Amino acid sequence: MRRVGVLALQGDFEAHGKALEQAGARPVMVRRVTELDGLDALVIPGGESTTMLRLLEDEGMFEALRVFGRQRPILGTCAGAILLAGEVTNPPQPSLGLMDIVVERNAYGRQLESRVVRLEPEPEFARAAGEGELEAVFIRAPIIRRTGPNVRVYARYLGDPVLVAEGRHMAATFHPELSADRRVHRLFVEQVERGAATAG
Ligand code: GLN
Repeated sequence: MRRVGVLALQGDFEAHGKALEQAGARPVMVRRVTELDGLDALVIPGGESTTMLRLLEDEGMFEALRVFGRQRPILGTCAGAILLAGEVTNPPQPSLGLMDIVVERNAYGRQLESRVVRLEPEPEFARAAGEGELEAVFIRAPIIRRTGPNVRVYARYLGDPVLVAEGRHMAATFHPELSADRRVHRLFVEQVERGAATAG
């Protein structure tokens, strides 16, 4: 069983732990650099990306996550997607630069702060993870404004990408861990299993 870390400095890490268990992985809460050792992958949860950044810097983890992400898969949800991005706006802030996406924070405005919608995922997601609508819980969500040429879009909301993948990484601007549907976590875990298998 793959050991998947969940960054547990701040935010909704507990829900990701349960979701990973349901998706067939063993979750490991990560609060310091040494706890990244031996993990097959990592989840960066939602929360407040500026607070997470500050805590990462306090723990000396920012650079360690960047190095981890060059070798192992990371799933970032909401604030986690902001941390994975190549560029962040509204306002600009540092990020790990592990995915070729430009992300605008708090981009749906105050009226749309939080909402639950049902999306029809793109055919590529349906093929890889299974057919059917996907529930998406948005909480002060960012918008992915630009995606690089190697980014695959798995789902959109109002035309904007909300679930994307690039190489070994995945990012969601919503909170799949807060819905009962486990397809997103399962797809991530399957990818981790396949990667580990090809790496021997
Ligand atoms: N608005 C938060 C941020 O910019 C993200 C919200 C979330 O993770 N639910 O960091």
